[in-house]
Amino acid sequence: MNVADMDDLAARLNAAGGRAVDDPRQADLVMVNTCTVRAKAEEKAYSFFGELKHLRRADGSRPLLVGMGCVVNKQREELAKRFKHLDLWLDFSDPDGVLAALRQAFAPLSELDLDAEFTPALDTGLSPLRFVTAIRGCNHGCAYCVVPRARGPQRDVPLKRIIAEAQALERAGAPDLAVLGQNILAYGTTSGDRRRRFIELMETLLAETGFRWITYLTSLPGDLTEEICERIVAHPRITPLLHLPLQSGSDRVLADMRRGYDMNHYRRIVAYARQCRPDLYLTTDLLVGFPTETEADFRATLLAAEEIGFDDAFMFAYSERPGTPAARKYGDPLPRAEKLDRLHELIARQREWGKLRNHRFIGQRLAVIVEHVDGAVAVARTSFNKPVHLPAAGLKAGEYALTEITSAKVSSFAGNAVP
Ligand code: SF4
Repeated sequence: MNVADMDDLAARLNAAGGRAVDDPRQADLVMVNTCTVRAKAEEKAYSFFGELKHLRRADGSRPLLVGMGCVVNKQREELAKRFKHLDLWLDFSDPDGVLAALRQAFAPLSELDLDAEFTPALDTGLSPLRFVTAIRGCNHGCAYCVVPRARGPQRDVPLKRIIAEAQALERAGAPDLAVLGQNILAYGTTSGDRRRRFIELMETLLAETGFRWITYLTSLPGDLTEEICERIVAHPRITPLLHLPLQSGSDRVLADMRRGYDMNHYRRIVAYARQCRPDLYLTTDLLVGFPTETEADFRATLLAAEEIGFDDAFMFAYSERPGTPAARKYGDPLPRAEKLDRLHELIARQREWGKLRNHRFIGQRLAVIVEHVDGAVAVARTSFNKPVHLPAAGLKAGEYALTEITSAKVSSFAGNAVP
C-alpha cells in the first residue's frame, strides 16, 4: 500500500512540474513514508529520520523534510520532539491528504492550480508493478494488527475513480494492473448501500480496461466465497495468484487473533478455488509465536502448511505492537528465542515444500512481463509475480514474452525466451 501511495503521489508531483532525484541533496522536498506493521520497519524509519539531520543542498540550504504514514500516526508528538529538524509530520499517507497538506507548507505547490480529479499517469519509475488503490484502511480488527489504528477505518475509493485511474495507467503503457486493499474482498462495505461490491469492482475493471493480467491483493480468507471463486478467481484475465493469509493452523489461535474464519473454512474454500482455477498459485502469510500459541498450536500450523500446499509464504515471528488488542490482552509472554526457533523451523520446512511445488513449472512455457534488461541478462515476472531470470537477447522492458522454465527455486525461476 505504501508503494502504491508513493507511486500515486510521485505522479501527482510530476504532473505539477516536479521531478524525482536520486540524491536527496538535490531535492527541494524529501518525504519519508513509514510502516509500523513490523518493529524492524519502524526502527528503520527512526534511523532515517536521524540521518536527515545533516542533509543540506549544495548551496547550504535545507529541503523541506516531511515524515508521514503509520509511525507518525502512532506517535506524532514524540517524533516531533525527538527529530526537531523535520518540518512537517503527517499522520497519514493517502495522496489526496498529503497533497493538500503540502500545498500549505511547500511554496512551489501552493501557487499551482492542481486538478482535484487528477488520475496518475504513473510514469514515475518507482515500481514495476502498476497499482490502483481501491480501499484505504481496514475495519477488520485482527488482534495483532496495527493497521486499523495506523491507517484508520476502511474507506472505499469510488468505483468511477478506480476505473479512471486504471484507464490512465493503461494509456500510459502499464502492462498489467494490481488492485489493492488491506482486505480487498470487503470493497463496498463502507460506501453507498454498504453491500459487498468486490465482484462488481473486478468485473467493471475487466470490462472497462484491456489489461491482460489483473491481480487483486489482499484477501481475508473469511470473505472469500464460492461466487468470488467462480466469477473472479476463475476468470482468464485475472492472474492465478491468490494471496490468502492463513496466519495460523490452530482454530483456537485463529479465534484469539480474531481472524474470523477457521481451518474448515480455509480448507474448503481453497479446495473450491483450486477446482475453479486449476493453475491457482496460492501464497500466504504465517505468523508464529502469537501470545497464546502453544507448541501444539505451532505444530498445527506446520501440518496445515504441509497439507494445504502453499506455493510461497511470507513468514513472521510475532512482535508486540503497542495499542493492539493482543498487546492489551496478552502482552508478549513467549521468549523471543522460542518464537525465532519456531519461525526458523517453519521457514525451513515451507521452503522445502515450496521448492517441490514450484518444480512443476520446469519445462512449462509461461508468459512473462520483462521488467529489466541489464546487459546480457533480463529479469521478467510471471502472472503470479515470480521473478524469472533469462538471457536478454531481443527482449525489451515492459513487453510480454514467452519463456520456457529451466529451473525453479522458491523465490525465483530461470528460463529461456521462446518464440
Ligand atoms: S484484515 Fe486484519 S491483518 Fe489485514 S489489515 Fe485488516 S486488521 Fe490487519
